[in-house]
Amino acid sequence: MLLPILHWPDPLLSKPCAPALLDDDLRHLASDMLETMYAARGRGLAAPQVGRLVRLFVMDVTWKESACSPQVFVNPEMVELSVARVLGPEGCLSIPGPVTEVERAEAVRMRWTDMEGQRQDAVLTGFAAICAQHEHDHLDGILTLDHLSPEARAQAEAEVLT
Ligand code: ZN
Repeated sequence: MLLPILHWPDPLLSKPCAPALLDDDLRHLASDMLETMYAARGRGLAAPQVGRLVRLFVMDVTWKESACSPQVFVNPEMVELSVARVLGPEGCLSIPGPVTEVERAEAVRMRWTDMEGQRQDAVLTGFAAICAQHEHDHLDGILTLDHLSPEARAQAEAEVLT
């Protein structure tokens, strides 16, 4: 089922999310979120973007170029961030319009629970690392806008609101 995606400045997007409980309701939500993400032509979607304040996000960083590789992250934790940083353009399905330049760690070690209830531990690099940090931010109520200088933020906000 397609879910409506909340848009900034919806206040739910700025709230921290509670730990998720892996049950049938959450599996259903994750499946709907993947469907919604593909329909919106996104590569990642976090639960608060569809109005659910739980620590869950989905992503697929390869589907636009090659095969689908849907991933579900329940209660993800950023265990370690690389010292190396990269600055790159980021869009967000909740902030239609502006693409903002955000600085991220080049690599990140994450732990999370998958749909089978198994705890996973992996180092993500490249676009997956960037996307995972972006989605993880959503779980703490942080948007790309929050990473910008006051001037860049004002410009991006004006782009959304016009
Ligand atoms: Zn986003």
